[in-house]
Amino acid sequence: FDDRDGVIWLDGAFVPWRDARLHVLSHGLHYGGGIFEGIRVYDGRPFKPVEHFQRFHDSARELNFRIPFSAAELDGAMRETLRQQGIADGYVRPVAWRGSEQISVSGAGTSVHVAIAAWEWPHVFAGDAHSRGIRLHTSRWRRPSPATAPVQAKAASLYNICTLARDEAEAAGCDDALLLDFRGYLAEATGANLFLVIDGALHTPTADTFLNGITRQTVLSLAKDLGISAHERHIQPGELRRADEVFLTGTAYEVQPVRAADGHSFEIGSVTTMLSKAYTDLTRSGQGHGGPRRPG
Ligand code: PMP
Repeated sequence: FDDRDGVIWLDGAFVPWRDARLHVLSHGLHYGGGIFEGIRVYDGRPFKPVEHFQRFHDSARELNFRIPFSAAELDGAMRETLRQQGIADGYVRPVAWRGSEQISVSGAGTSVHVAIAAWEWPHVFAGDAHSRGIRLHTSRWRRPSPATAPVQAKAASLYNICTLARDEAEAAGCDDALLLDFRGYLAEATGANLFLVIDGALHTPTADTFLNGITRQTVLSLAKDLGISAHERHIQPGELRRADEVFLTGTAYEVQPVRAADGHSFEIGSVTTMLSKAYTDLTRSGQGHGGPRRPG
């Protein structure tokens, strides 16, 4: 992904895409001292940037470092990146990491670097998977307990579990992994939250071992507006058998139907279709470029 034309915003200035490099002794590379965000842009308008940059700062705080740019400065840098890249519909990746001033595990004495890149990215999964639905494979890797890792942070180090799970799922011929949490409850996919539709109602795992996604919160609020009842609770993996519909939510995934998981098949039914349409309408409406911060 590094061999491209264009620019990336790095520590306050624009550099050519190919030159946006870091030192091999960076703390972020050796010890996982890094966090990131993902923001989608619709018709030239970033969706929920306030919430995303708030989470960017919150994630850094969870890892005991401070982003040396305010949310307003990051927002300005994102908009200028989009302008220079000429992107009206795409994806923005802010990332921050501890630098290479020292080689100890300790974070003390490391500077914090920040970059923002943007590119066109219509769908996470290739081909017609977005409309036809994807296949999930339950991973043997699990989401850790909040006593083991900062599970509410969008911490790069936590994505190693996702990479292991995703590679395992792809080797099994599936599109993405389904992760259980450390207790054995259903948790999420590698970059998206999980919803089940049982008897017309939404059921989604309680966000106590993974990100309470901004898309998850948006979809729960759309469901409320549409009069669809929703239950946030601990869900046993065996309950997948009872689900008529299953879908994932995330900034990059949007509302992504699931057509199979571990041999169970699901329809792309009316609830998924209704919420997917409502989400598209909202992201394209120009609403949600700011506004009050949502909890989580
Ligand atoms: N879980 C994981 C592991 C993710 O990477 C993401 C994407 N940020 C989500 C859930 C969904 O979060 P959001 O809706 O805020 O993008």
